[in-house]
Amino acid sequence: MNSKSSGIRKALPFLTLIFLLFSVLLIWSFFTLNHSNYFHQLNVRHFKYVSDLHSLISTPKPALFSQPPQATDTIRNAIINIRQQPLECLEKIGPIDRILMTFINTDNIISICQKDIVSANQALEAITHFEAGVIDEASLQEQLIETLRIFSHNSIEFEAPVEKTVNFIADIIISLIVSSCIILLLFTMYLSRAVSLVLTNREAAMKALAESEERNKSLAYKDTLTGLPNRNLLEHTINAAIAKSSRNETQFAVMFIDLDQFKDINDTLGHSVGDKLLIEMARRIAHTLRECDSVVRFGGDEFVAVTDCFDAVETIDVIASRVIDAINKPVKLVQIETFITASIGVACYPDNGTDATALLKHADTAMYQAKSAGKNQFQPYDKNSANRQNRKLSIVQQLHHAIANDEFSLVYQPVVRLADGKTVGSEALIRWTNMNNESIRPDEFIPIAENSGQIIEIGDWVLQQACAQCKRWHQQGATDHTMAINVSSHQLKDVGFAKRVATILQQYALPAKCIHIEITENIAITEDKVCVANLHELSELGALLLLDDFGTGYSCLSYLKDLPFDILKIDKSFMPANNTIAATIIAMGHELHMEIIAEGIETSMCHQYLNNLHCQYGQGYLFQKPVSASEFDVFKQFSVGL
Ligand code: C2E
Ligand code: MG
Ligand code: MG
Repeated sequence: MNSKSSGIRKALPFLTLIFLLFSVLLIWSFFTLNHSNYFHQLNVRHFKYVSDLHSLISTPKPALFSQPPQATDTIRNAIINIRQQPLECLEKIGPIDRILMTFINTDNIISICQKDIVSANQALEAITHFEAGVIDEASLQEQLIETLRIFSHNSIEFEAPVEKTVNFIADIIISLIVSSCIILLLFTMYLSRAVSLVLTNREAAMKALAESEERNKSLAYKDTLTGLPNRNLLEHTINAAIAKSSRNETQFAVMFIDLDQFKDINDTLGHSVGDKLLIEMARRIAHTLRECDSVVRFGGDEFVAVTDCFDAVETIDVIASRVIDAINKPVKLVQIETFITASIGVACYPDNGTDATALLKHADTAMYQAKSAGKNQFQPYDKNSANRQNRKLSIVQQLHHAIANDEFSLVYQPVVRLADGKTVGSEALIRWTNMNNESIRPDEFIPIAENSGQIIEIGDWVLQQACAQCKRWHQQGATDHTMAINVSSHQLKDVGFAKRVATILQQYALPAKCIHIEITENIAITEDKVCVANLHELSELGALLLLDDFGTGYSCLSYLKDLPFDILKIDKSFMPANNTIAATIIAMGHELHMEIIAEGIETSMCHQYLNNLHCQYGQGYLFQKPVSASEFDVFKQFSVGL
């Protein structure tokens, strides 16, 4: 199609030139035809003037002789008129005409004309001689009669070749006109075909363009893997639902569906299996929803469903439960039966948002709430927990710059020997004042940093600072002063943790026994090989391991048997200690040959009670609140008042 069009385009200037040439030829032909007819007119005039001359000289009494000189003048004028015709004829015949006449053998026209002019000149000369009295009347008459005869003869002679020439020219011209017309007709037909071809091509191109636009449009709104609409259509879908709901004064829900642990399947079974799983899940979700609901693939393992209007909120619970059940059903991938779950967040219009952005954001937040609540469930959007979620996100953001901005500091709380009130060590506790001068408690930001993984960096910073401070106090003479450092179980999951502790101890030339690694009771550490290995490595290093907040966690006593803990720290929630739990823990610790520290001692009664139970060490506001290193008196002897 294209090559045809380009051929036509190339031929067009040439065709236009031919068209112009033939048009010029046609016009020229009309002129030529007209021009050839002029010879006939000349001959007609020639005849007329010859017959005028004839009537002048052949009357019984010629005028010539009755009234000279007027008569001779009349005859002279008649002869001049006759001579004028061959003169004009010769003038008209150009070089091309001459060649043409020679070609068709009619060039005697020229000799006839020349003869006619010679005869006319002779007659005029005779008149002049007569008037001068050189010749007499009879001679003149004889001469004129002879000239008249020649004129008549020439006129007759002239007719045949002129006729032949004119006919020839006419034939040529007519065939030229006919062939020009045929060529023009063919040209017009060709041109109209070319134009219609161009138009057809254009129409086909426009159609192809429209089709490809349509295809692109559908691709732009379709997820190629699952065949579901993609997120480009989501805003439009939600806006349409908003319009409908606000018209009917009903509600609808946006459900954010996220597959739990999809990444694990992708990583272990490969991406193609992951893709198959997504296709299957997309199919299940789409089939579980009602005809009037819509579902789009939001990206990765996330889907968003927009339900149609409903009157009762319970409806959405039913739909969400159905989706969860559908996803939970086993799925067979590469001969293996796998299970997957999903967490769903639900935001309802208009209660949880009145525009697409808010509804989507709140459904997403609710989905995270479902994940934090243990996954494989749906959660409706809850403003308070969303605020908490936002606060968490903001803390994660702020923590990124906290070390670099020098926003952390350590405070120290003395660990006191209960029997005599001597400061034997200290516990390093982190403090954080963010850029807005807001103090954020460790209870709040440590669990967040644990989840976000930022605890590793923060923990390393604490280790460095606490060891450096411990070294300074040792250098001031408190050579046995111990430093208790809180370490999260997430830090223990880091393979190189014990090695880093060893490096830092080496860096400050600190005896390992001065470092108490405080680990909060947590079932996870017994199940993680890296944690267990780190604990053994730390113990082998010589550092003491301390089980913090004892009694509050999962309290699996096999901990104490299998793991190399040296010290138990009774949680402050068991204070004041006049309860059997504190007494039991102390007794058990003694049985296991472990030292006991009690935290949260606020009263001297509590102190006394613990001392009577032979609890060796204690911490608490009774002695001192955590203070900065500069306020801390490492040699402080507290009055025990026992
Ligand atoms: P924890 O390790 O059990 O620390 C004891 C907490 O009890 C400290 O709170 C301390 O200020 C507080 N406390 C001490 N004496 C008393 C008392 O007599 N009465 C009461 N009511 N409280 C007392 P803080 O500093 O807010 O720390 C809270 C928790 O944050 C710590 O509990 C620890 O689990 C964690 N934490 C603090 N610093 C760090 C750190 O550097 N790394 C890690 N991983 N966790 C830390
Ligand atoms: Mg502690
Ligand atoms: Mg504690």
